[in-house]
Amino acid sequence: MSEKTIFKRIIDKEIPANIVYEDDQCLAFHDVSPQAPVHVLVIPKKEITSVEGIADEDSALIGHIFIVIRNLARKLGIAEDGYRVVSNCGVNACQTVPHLHFHLIGGRPFGWPPG
Ligand code: 5GP
Repeated sequence: MSEKTIFKRIIDKEIPANIVYEDDQCLAFHDVSPQAPVHVLVIPKKEITSVEGIADEDSALIGHIFIVIRNLARKLGIAEDGYRVVSNCGVNACQTVPHLHFHLIGGRPFGWPPG
């Protein structure tokens, strides 16, 4: 059996996280190394490796996660000024945790294109 990812261990409450939202399908918590005044990770409880690992049958789950992201942006006070939602997928994108996650980052302006 493959080892649990750090995010699966957070889902299972084996290690602590600063959780800002939880329901039966997903979990959101502050990133341990924030890149902006607001930096939250939103993850499905289902073990999906990355965007590449999303199955057709996950469409409702992914849609739900984006509704959660929208609501969190409002709750955390970054909706009005704008924010970024990022999901790194694979080696070229520097994905470090192989459990699907969406970075919700805001509270300052960001450049475009990303580096
Ligand atoms: P990735 O590079 O895979 O897109 O992003 C992984 C993110 O997870 C990074 O921003 C990193 O700071 C965050 N992270 C890694 N380990 C932990 C942890 O144990 N707790 C929390 N809250 N965030 C973590």
